[in-house]
Amino acid sequence: MSVKITINHVEQTKISSYDIENVEFGKVFTDHMFSVDYIGGVWQNSRIEPFGKIALSPTLSALHYGQAIFEGMKAFKNSKGEVAFFRPMENLKRLNTSAERMCMPQLPAEIFMEALQKLVKLDEAWIPQKLGSALYIRPFMFATDDFLGVKQSETYKFMVYACPVNAYYNHYLKVKVEEYYTRGAKGGAGSAKCAGNYAAAMYPTMLAQKEGFDQVLWTDGATHTFLEETGTSNVFVITKDAIYTPELSDTLLAGITRKSVIELAKDWGKTVVEKHISINELIEWHETGALLEMFVSGTAATLTNIELFSYKGKSYQLDMNIDLLSARIKAEFNAIRMGDIPDRFNWMIALN
Ligand SMILES: *Cc1c(COP(=O)(O)O)cnc(C)c1O
Repeated sequence: MSVKITINHVEQTKISSYDIENVEFGKVFTDHMFSVDYIGGVWQNSRIEPFGKIALSPTLSALHYGQAIFEGMKAFKNSKGEVAFFRPMENLKRLNTSAERMCMPQLPAEIFMEALQKLVKLDEAWIPQKLGSALYIRPFMFATDDFLGVKQSETYKFMVYACPVNAYYNHYLKVKVEEYYTRGAKGGAGSAKCAGNYAAAMYPTMLAQKEGFDQVLWTDGATHTFLEETGTSNVFVITKDAIYTPELSDTLLAGITRKSVIELAKDWGKTVVEKHISINELIEWHETGALLEMFVSGTAATLTNIELFSYKGKSYQLDMNIDLLSARIKAEFNAIRMGDIPDRFNWMIALN
């Protein structure tokens, strides 16, 4: 299938109004955006237009019943000025997994890749080049039926916009192990990157932040004794014996950064164990001195260390003055993304 995208260029780029190597996170968007409509069972009217507002009916079903899913990914510009996407097909796979769970249509790979290639090519000048900078790309799909009743929509819109982002200021995180609220239950939609999951997480997160924590460390909905993940990141625990991360299930999001950490760590000969990690086990590792490091992984901030976790009102501090493995993983990711070392995992897809 070849995809014909109609392109309507901006009259004048707004890039000169910004220093793209120093932008506020998530507030500056490139000149263009992509959209395609799903009508009568067919994706049609692929187009790139100037970034801007879109007109929507108050009856738009996504606004009421929440059929809305998204992805987050990045493109990098290396020191030679070459641009490449980081594992974009993984994002497409996950988008379509989320779509299936939310009763939304599958997006063909041709449309996804052509949208990314054309949009990023057009707005290539917006990609910052400094180490830690990237073009953050947000593909998303939502239901567009104008209908009051609760049912799956027949029409959808898939869109992509992008924004330059710079290195996060990575402070260490203090997390609260959640004992009451649940992010994803067995049989629920926790493994879908769907809008409602984030809305439902805001209240418990706000409560944790009022107590001085940065994030909630979610636990399983049934017993609140097994670790799941944090806000928009997966969690890793490193002990003297192995690197542990909660095993995938329908209660947590299968992060692409998580997958990449596992692949890299195994390549380095480390033991990586995906399993249920109980809070008691974590505390025991802490008490016996086996616990070395905890970090979260996600596209936006890559890897961020946890310096403290709290459970049942008691805080457990980690020693941050050690040689952090997470720092070495992060450096290796950067080197691959910036083309400083060979891409031995074939993670990067070039912009052409
Ligand atoms: C997006 C997301 C992640 C991380 O996924 P990446 O592909 O690594 O960015 C983890 N947990 C949740 C809940 C997420 O939404």
